[in-house]
Amino acid sequence: MNVYDGWRIAAMLKHHGLTETASIPDADIIILNTCAVREKATNKVYSALGRIRQAKKPSALFGIVGCVARESGADAFKRIPELNFVLGPQSYHKLPQILSDPDTKLFNIDLGGLEKFDSLPQMEKSPLVSYIPIQEGCNHCCTYCIVPYTRGREISRDFNRVMADTIHAAKTGAVEICFLGQNVNGYKYTDENGKTYRLSDLIRETAKIPEIMRIRFTSSYPTEMTDDLIDMFRTEQKLLPFLNMPIQSGSPNVLKRMNRPYDLEQYLTIVNKLRAARPDIQISSDFIVGFPGESDSDFEQTMQIANTIKYINSYSFKYSPRPHTAAALMPDQVPENIKSERLLKLDSNLNEIQRAFNLSCVDKTLTCLYEGIDKTSKHLIYRTPYMQQCIVEFIENAPTMANIKITSANKACLRGEFVD
Ligand code: SAH
Repeated sequence: MNVYDGWRIAAMLKHHGLTETASIPDADIIILNTCAVREKATNKVYSALGRIRQAKKPSALFGIVGCVARESGADAFKRIPELNFVLGPQSYHKLPQILSDPDTKLFNIDLGGLEKFDSLPQMEKSPLVSYIPIQEGCNHCCTYCIVPYTRGREISRDFNRVMADTIHAAKTGAVEICFLGQNVNGYKYTDENGKTYRLSDLIRETAKIPEIMRIRFTSSYPTEMTDDLIDMFRTEQKLLPFLNMPIQSGSPNVLKRMNRPYDLEQYLTIVNKLRAARPDIQISSDFIVGFPGESDSDFEQTMQIANTIKYINSYSFKYSPRPHTAAALMPDQVPENIKSERLLKLDSNLNEIQRAFNLSCVDKTLTCLYEGIDKTSKHLIYRTPYMQQCIVEFIENAPTMANIKITSANKACLRGEFVD
């Protein structure tokens, strides 16, 4: 979502006649787009701001946008008095005001809902993989999560506007569409005639666009995985056989305290339905280890569920207490060294599962999407339908989509060769 916001900010500034520079000392305006989901990310923002302050030319405007701006509020100006602007994730479209009035301090951390989408200029050229946000905010209120505070309550965008953005992306270069939302599969929009649209409607319509070859969406909440959406994996071949559906923990007790009120049986039923709809589907998850009160046996249940589902491409994090969240105030916070030990164990388990999956792809032919050229080795990089990186010998005029036979694999990536 931050990558998408970054694109829109860049496109907006271009629209105002600015061009991109390669280095901070050359820049007339420097914008740090920020993430507040874990404390480490927030700390990085302030050390980066310190570096920018020293490297920039004195006349350059600089500021922060995004979730750390919203979380810090006007305190950001106290910590770094030279800041020219502090704009939250739903007010960065106000940035051009600083160009016309550079002597003011621009501050806005309001939750403006969907206003930003309608006030941003369209991008002239879209990336091969284009992100299309379909929703802002989240209503789930997981007790560890700062997102409902930084991005506000959940609002789904107008179906027709989302489709207009998707068609625009397709006409200007997109081959893959990734629908974005904090609770993306909870997308629900009712138009003025009372007709309700769901994520499955967006997928069905997008699959009809000839330029679009691949569709995916992230991030899903397990219990919002409704049958109409599961059915899309059966009927729409352009929908990739890969789904990020974070479970966070394998312990029912921890899940309850996280305010993620599903049980493992429910989760497994959804996984089984998905596999029945699309036998080659693979699932990835996010995990939090060391949530307050997590015991050794709670953690073992997380290790077990990872082995049962055989998640690929997953992310795992040490629990990080965040301001404005209920879990930060819970008793029995887990010591840092135990969190680190558990993270190491889980990561090594997840890596082994990933390696086994990658090896199982050897000798298979996968239809992959071009991503770029490795700068040092000059090899071509492609993405498989399961988001694995696949490395191929350089050829001129590399095809955008290619059938690639996988010849070898390790934990990190695949190697392959083009098949006619
Ligand atoms: N709704 C989005 C949330 C984005 S945050 C989603 O479901 O992906 C991405 C991941 O960060 C979450 O899934 C969770 O695993 C992790 N996360 C969120 N808050 C956290 C915290 N306080 N400490 C550690 N990890 C956290």
